[in-house]
Amino acid sequence: IIVATGLKPFDPSSVDLHGYGKLPNVVTSIEFEKMLKEGKIVTQSGKEPRTIAIIHCVGSRNNDYHEYCSRTCCMLGLKFYNQVRSALPNSHVYQIYADMRSFGKGCEELYAETAKRGVMFLNFDQREGIPQITKSDPEDCCEMLIEFKERLSNTNIEVPADMVVLLVGMEAREDAKEVAHHVGVSKCGNDFFIERHPKLDPVATTTDGVYIIGSCQGPKDITDSVAQARAATARVLATITQGTVEVEVTTAVVNEDICCGCQTCVKVCPYTAISYDEEKSVSVVNEVQCKGCGTCGSACPTGAIRARHFTDQQILSQIKGLLTTEMTEV
Ligand code: SF4
Ligand code: SF4
Ligand code: SF4
Repeated sequence: IIVATGLKPFDPSSVDLHGYGKLPNVVTSIEFEKMLKEGKIVTQSGKEPRTIAIIHCVGSRNNDYHEYCSRTCCMLGLKFYNQVRSALPNSHVYQIYADMRSFGKGCEELYAETAKRGVMFLNFDQREGIPQITKSDPEDCCEMLIEFKERLSNTNIEVPADMVVLLVGMEAREDAKEVAHHVGVSKCGNDFFIERHPKLDPVATTTDGVYIIGSCQGPKDITDSVAQARAATARVLATITQGTVEVEVTTAVVNEDICCGCQTCVKVCPYTAISYDEEKSVSVVNEVQCKGCGTCGSACPTGAIRARHFTDQQILSQIKGLLTTEMTEV
């Protein structure tokens, strides 16, 4: 199974200071991308914007929303600037950023090239507050004003804008919990799926045969997603070519005569290897998925589930024997 369920963009309606949903010319990066694709960058009144402000880190790197960096939006902001330059050469563009993260091949070069082309970079500190967008007065020469403390000059400033683009972050999908349960993978605190090892096994999971690729594992760009997809495909093909799959020998087994059907084992199994048989009112272990970790056995209130090939008494005797040997040696 290759899990590639992707992400969902952060909804900026919850960020009151940005006025998304209330001010008509505040749009998300997704909506702006659509405008660029259609070749129609216009305000709600149908006019071409003279000034466009691009606000970074919306919903990301902020303790009130998501603490993590969404990794792709800084470069998206630079791409937008270059596209606006071509589409509306007389417009002014402000990049209002917290930190510029331009890692990845060619990204630092894009940043340096863009900086030479006349874009105005203005820096804000998330800890001191995010930019506040308000409707301007009728006598002002713009639709909106963006107010914030510019970090480098340590001054409160107001930036005029006819259109504001919010670079919204990425977040896990609402159904991440459900998907994780179905395929037997774990989630981190931000609901992204967890790989078996971040460096040594970045596309596999703790459940054999289940791989995760793309942004369901964490925010990432297209290049990284493609690399992960190819790696996972190679792993799957290697397994198929091998012809056989090794499974755990010491799996859990349920004694149906004393199982009371409480389903405690179903809830605690970290590999979702146990299901409940409604007809028989007992739990059933999927031996291919079971890793023999013993969690279910220690949680079972009736002692109905145990490790195959070992009784509880045998395991206790082994522990006792081990402790006795060590004490004798000491
Ligand atoms: S990639 Fe840039 S804009 Fe996006 S969250 Fe990270 S620092 Fe902020
Ligand atoms: S031994 Fe571990 S993996 Fe196997 S069924 Fe029990 S809890 Fe699940
Ligand atoms: S925890 Fe034990 S008694 Fe409860 S359903 Fe599982 S095997 Fe049966």
